[in-house]
Amino acid sequence: MTDQELVKRAFEMHRFSYVPYSHFPVGAALLTGDGRVFTGCNVENAAYGSTVCAERTALLKAVSEGCREGWTAIAIAGQGADFCWPCGACRQMLYEFAPDLRVLAARGDGQYAEARLSELLPHGFGPRSLE
Ligand SMILES: [Zn+2]
Repeated sequence: MTDQELVKRAFEMHRFSYVPYSHFPVGAALLTGDGRVFTGCNVENAAYGSTVCAERTALLKAVSEGCREGWTAIAIAGQGADFCWPCGACRQMLYEFAPDLRVLAARGDGQYAEARLSELLPHGFGPRSLE
């Protein structure tokens, strides 16, 4: 799967976003080493703090289906003018399983930028920090 196809999968998830408060749909698509793709959308809640981001939804789907290793890239698609980089909580959650993950952050016009998670969360706290 190409990066562009992964970004497209992330955009396709906008249709499932539940965003009555922000009106800002976000989709995510997580690519694993064996070619599987776990998708997610943001799901908001009247108790705002209970909201779950699209990339964390994709992460939870992967882990809950037994896929914890070999993640190669995640695409995150927003509709704004800026690239949709993951929030701090999502960076931390992704770091647990794939500290050097490729992150593709897309904006509303379909363009995207790329960075490594290790760049987005330098000196991150992970499983090795507890050794
Ligand atoms: Zn987030």
